[in-house]
Amino acid sequence: MLTDQFQRRFNYLRLSITDVCNFRCNYCLPDGYCDEKQPEPLNVDEIHALVSAFAANGTRKVRITGGEPTLRKDLPEIIRRCKSVEGIQTVAMTSNGYRMTKQIDEILDAGLDSLNLSADSLQPDTFRLITGHDKLQQVLDTVDMAIARGIKNLKLNAVLLRQYNWQERQQFFDYVKHRPISLRFIELMRTGDNGEYFEQQHVRGTTLQQQLVDEDWVSVLKGADAGPAIEYAHPDYQGKIGLIMPYSKDFCASCNRLRVSSQGKLHLCLFADDNMDLRPYLLTESTTELAQRIEYLVQDKLAGHDLASGFTGATRHLAMLGG
Ligand code: SAM
Ligand code: SF4
Repeated sequence: MLTDQFQRRFNYLRLSITDVCNFRCNYCLPDGYCDEKQPEPLNVDEIHALVSAFAANGTRKVRITGGEPTLRKDLPEIIRRCKSVEGIQTVAMTSNGYRMTKQIDEILDAGLDSLNLSADSLQPDTFRLITGHDKLQQVLDTVDMAIARGIKNLKLNAVLLRQYNWQERQQFFDYVKHRPISLRFIELMRTGDNGEYFEQQHVRGTTLQQQLVDEDWVSVLKGADAGPAIEYAHPDYQGKIGLIMPYSKDFCASCNRLRVSSQGKLHLCLFADDNMDLRPYLLTESTTELAQRIEYLVQDKLAGHDLASGFTGATRHLAMLGG
């Protein structure tokens, strides 16, 4: 198993398959996707080679993300190839859900095991103000379709935003009363591009955490290899509520993930200054050689990010790497 110098074990790869997105979330890509001069993203053979090397190093879960991963026409093939790699037990995906009502069956048939969708508001007008699109209903329909198909570990991500959804907390709680999903509130992260927005909109996750405790939500015990999210359950609710609080002390101590961009760059942290280009080696080195290369590079992973001091590394926005 890939282990760094701080004894953190990495069994989880977040793989971006495109930087392109069709939404304009105001904390992420307020002007929409504009960087059109990028080379082509990794192709299916390159992705297969990359995932095989990670699997040889003990990776058991791959999350496909973006940008918006459903914009890739070969998404079902990508899922199928990731799933075919020996050792990979779970292929997950994060999507804005925009086109998923039409794609969900093909994607599930390809072998997708779990799905995270994103909806930062349950009010159509507010959703449109945040994303630039009037598509809330499509996302919510996708959630219900995924529940009906019995997809495991279904999650709905919502970034906490002071002006847009902080007042909607109760509506979000009500939403999971009869839905067996995990609603994940993510604390807004400062990135290179969103400094001013961050100052206006950031709400500390601990404020919501206190409310949950006051309302008798109980934290669920985490497994040894679980990531940094804290999850809460309540006997009156079918769903759970998760909190992702990147500004909390010790957040990085339980980091279990590595990230690769759609161009094949290994990022040891979402907020690292540097990345390492794996693309030249994907189709030229054996799985063993590539796995050794990755193992060597992981030793440079730092103990933690320095977000609290406003340091955001080279990450301009999370569409570059998938959150
Ligand atoms: N486009 C897909 C989506 O929105 O679900 C996948 C990529 S998106 C970057 C992954 C997740 O990161 C989304 O849930 C999004 O809300 C979240 N995200 C993006 N920028 C963020 C930020 N600055 N702070 C916290 N979460 C962010
Ligand atoms: Fe696109 Fe996701 Fe960023 Fe929104 S958060 S702009 S859907 S990549």
